[in-house]
Amino acid sequence: MSLGIWVLGDQLSQAQAALASTQPDAARVLLVESSSVLGQRAYHRQKLVLVWSAMRHFAEELRQAGWTVDYRIGEQFGTTVRDWITCHGIEQVWLMEPADRGFRDAIERLTLPVKLNWLPSNAFLWSREAFAAWADGYRQLRMELFYREGRRRFAVLMEGEGAKAQPLGGQWNYDHDNRRAPTKGLRGPEPLWFEPDAITQAVMERVEQLDQERQKAGLPPLPGRLVPFRWGVSRAQALAVLEHFIDTRLAGFGPYQDAMVNGEPTLWHALLSPYLNLGLLHPLEVIRVLEQAGRDRAVPLACLEGVIRQILGWREYTHGLYHWFGPAYGESNQLEAQAPLPAWLEHGGGSGMACMDTVLQEIEQTGYAHHIQRLMVLANYGLLAGLNPQALTDWFHRQFIDGYDWVMQTNVLGMGVYADGGRLASKPYAASGNYIRRMSTYCQDCRFDVKQRHGPKACPFNSLYWDFLARHRDRLRSNPRMALVFKQLEKLTPDELAAIRQTAAEHRSPM
Ligand code: SF4
Repeated sequence: MSLGIWVLGDQLSQAQAALASTQPDAARVLLVESSSVLGQRAYHRQKLVLVWSAMRHFAEELRQAGWTVDYRIGEQFGTTVRDWITCHGIEQVWLMEPADRGFRDAIERLTLPVKLNWLPSNAFLWSREAFAAWADGYRQLRMELFYREGRRRFAVLMEGEGAKAQPLGGQWNYDHDNRRAPTKGLRGPEPLWFEPDAITQAVMERVEQLDQERQKAGLPPLPGRLVPFRWGVSRAQALAVLEHFIDTRLAGFGPYQDAMVNGEPTLWHALLSPYLNLGLLHPLEVIRVLEQAGRDRAVPLACLEGVIRQILGWREYTHGLYHWFGPAYGESNQLEAQAPLPAWLEHGGGSGMACMDTVLQEIEQTGYAHHIQRLMVLANYGLLAGLNPQALTDWFHRQFIDGYDWVMQTNVLGMGVYADGGRLASKPYAASGNYIRRMSTYCQDCRFDVKQRHGPKACPFNSLYWDFLARHRDRLRSNPRMALVFKQLEKLTPDELAAIRQTAAEHRSPM
């Protein structure tokens, strides 16, 4: 047997392009679990467990489907793969293009002694070429236009045929229905979690051991808690999460998707992104199942459209942009933000801000926070405080259970901290404490006062917000979407602005 297929850790689908291009008896499959990834990034413990356990489960699934699978655990990819090639007389290796371009670059650098055949990825609805053809037609790219094109192209939530097709319900977007502030005592349904099986337990032991070895070598502990680990690690479990979401959360998904509630880290969120990003679920498969559920169960259209927009719209858009913008995008820093990350980001809390510490503790426990916690607490703080965007992007990548380069570059650099100068978002998503007060329950328990702008009790999001606007006034005031906030800035007296900026400086100084 001379053909080898190397399946990477985020390609855990039997339908992935390389496996789908041949038959189980015509190739030998390789999966490599290499601890060298920790040399690049200190990942959240649960993220390592999720990826490696899902890989081990996928290897079993492939064996049951008749494939010959070699699962190698090694320190370095290069020596492990070269040894596999020699040992089995592999003459050609097929791989599906990984979503993160850094993976391909790293594999090319291994200089393996055989030809590598890269197959285009089929893990997304939009190929890179199709996205480029769409994007090339616009001076200014906007997600909403892309999303509508996706709805038409893949016939999702449409009625009518061909050019006459119209959005179901006569409206493309129900976002304005989906921004309700939390009501008193708001509680979401319990998510579906899983007990670790023997495979997962073995991976947990390995992660614990690697962590101890790192600490003995003088490195800091890996972030995040190892236990309890409750994520699904197989396609069967990912499908069960999808089914559970439809049964218990889909009909309530929309209205409170932007709400943030103490003690309710998941509310009605789908928790599907870790499984989509590993390849255990395909986005089109999920969309079709959701559409069918919408028809069978009379799900409110605003809820159905809201979750489909996340997958068909935002997820495809960020992936498409990542490849369209190219490698230089990762270095964007248009606002010249240079502040180092505060130590409490690494330590899972300790900032004294109730909103921030709540979100950091939730990430510590599961590697998860929902999109508004990410955007309007974490990234908003990074934007306002002028944290270095590359360091912040790397932090998101390491800490989140679903974090990858393609996800985080566009989400953090573009949407989160405006480091790309507006290539993705039409304005910086800067918000004072007032947004967090309105959309969360956090401020009630905070030692800061969300109504104060300066002084020792002032909410740091307030002082940093006005300081941010004052700092970037010349750069941002010509943006028509910022006109209103700059008018408000001008209403501040010089003394008040000076006091606010002094408070912001004092907040930043202990970093
Ligand atoms: Fe966050 Fe400010 Fe509210 Fe405290 S007062 S929870 S720092 S927004």
